[in-house]
Amino acid sequence: MIYITPSEVIEYMFCPRFIYYMNVLKIEQNEEDRHLVIKGRNIHNAKMVQNKDYIRKKIGCVDKKIDEYLISEKLRLKGRIDEVLFFENNLAAPLDYKYSFWQNKIFTTYKMQQALYSLLIEENYKKKVERAYLVYVRTKNKLIEIKIGKQQKDKAKKTVEEIFEILEKNYFPNPTKYKNKCFDCTYKNLCEF
Ligand code: SF4
Repeated sequence: MIYITPSEVIEYMFCPRFIYYMNVLKIEQNEEDRHLVIKGRNIHNAKMVQNKDYIRKKIGCVDKKIDEYLISEKLRLKGRIDEVLFFENNLAAPLDYKYSFWQNKIFTTYKMQQALYSLLIEENYKKKVERAYLVYVRTKNKLIEIKIGKQQKDKAKKTVEEIFEILEKNYFPNPTKYKNKCFDCTYKNLCEF
């Protein structure tokens, strides 16, 4: 059984060909990129030890699970979630720490990531997810709420299906429409335009 992760979905959103190069041809991104990923993971681990109880209390959280690794066989999706928060009325929500500054906008990729986490939580805990939270660590732990509705969840499911189309049929997807992404792309020498 092959599973994909929210990170791979985000790579796909950047350019559909990433999935083809990484998961079909098994060509990894370069060392420098890997180094950044490892550095990101270390930061991720470090922030796990920080106690943010006051944030959880502020939003009425009644229980939590930290650093949860969840799998959905139905969606063929797996992911590690910083925190799963539980609320009254059978509700739950993902909470994700961003080691960055709040830039007054929620990136589409973050919305997608949280919709995918929401699907994982709903299936694993049989709870309804209607919102997700981001904590911007470098902006005094600014807490941002994202509404997660049916539209976001359906879009997330559709994107996962599109990725499996590439993986199962081994077809070479179209390049990104935004050519400026190609200039410093690891795979630019492999791409034909
Ligand atoms: S070079 Fe451009 S089209 Fe090719 S993988 Fe990179 S971003 Fe996508």
